Amino acid sequence: MTRRKLVAGNWKMNGSRAALSELSAIADAAAGHAGVDVAVAVPATLIAPAAEAVPALSIGAEDVHAADQGAHTGCVSAAMVKEAGARFSIVGHSERRADQGERDADVKAKAEALHRHGLHAIVCVGETLDEREAGRAEAVVTAQVAGSLPQGASGEWCAIAYEPVWAIGTGRTPTADDVATMHGAIRAKLTAMVGAEAAEIRILYGGSVTPDNARELLHVADVDGALVGGASLTAAKFVPIIAAAD
Ligand code: PEP
Repeated sequence: MTRRKLVAGNWKMNGSRAALSELSAIADAAAGHAGVDVAVAVPATLIAPAAEAVPALSIGAEDVHAADQGAHTGCVSAAMVKEAGARFSIVGHSERRADQGERDADVKAKAEALHRHGLHAIVCVGETLDEREAGRAEAVVTAQVAGSLPQGASGEWCAIAYEPVWAIGTGRTPTADDVATMHGAIRAKLTAMVGAEAAEIRILYGGSVTPDNARELLHVADVDGALVGGASLTAAKFVPIIAAAD
């Protein structure tokens, strides 16, 4: 088993060219944590300036369309974000599943588009609070994995991010035991789907990761890193999370 930890940021609809200095500071600090892979997904308008300003950092997109080109006003394709300098994209974030009605099949197709263009994919899954309170969290999440995992998924280019919807941006997190249980269930589902390759696929935890809770969450069994929203916007908060993964 050779899984390196990955700490990935998600800037969502935040940031501007003025914020690129944060990425430079993140890249400088990441260089001191060679055991951790660090990446930041930024708004589409910032991919090119970020990739040019901070070539040492893996810059990614927050979403791509499944098609390579066509009549899809307002969308960007995997080929387009690659040309802009992205090395990966998040797909299936719960905010897109909720706001844009994305289904598992859409998420799978987007991840496959990324792979066609030689980009990495972070595939997000996670249950709502209602689903957890109804005792359905594991069933919901493993079904999302089954429906969203791209064809030929391997640890080389695909990671899963487990993000309980109720933990995103709320300051609430699951217990370490709950995270371990869910990551174990995801690993078991991956094993059923892709066999031994499942041991190479990173499973990130996401949802209100902060410098205060990162060390505990990042060292739970089967947690191979973190997907970080709010705390990735500044080096002051993101760098201690990278350090906690090391
Ligand atoms: C996210 O949006 O992927 C996320 C985990 O957000 P936050 O860290 O702000 O909860």
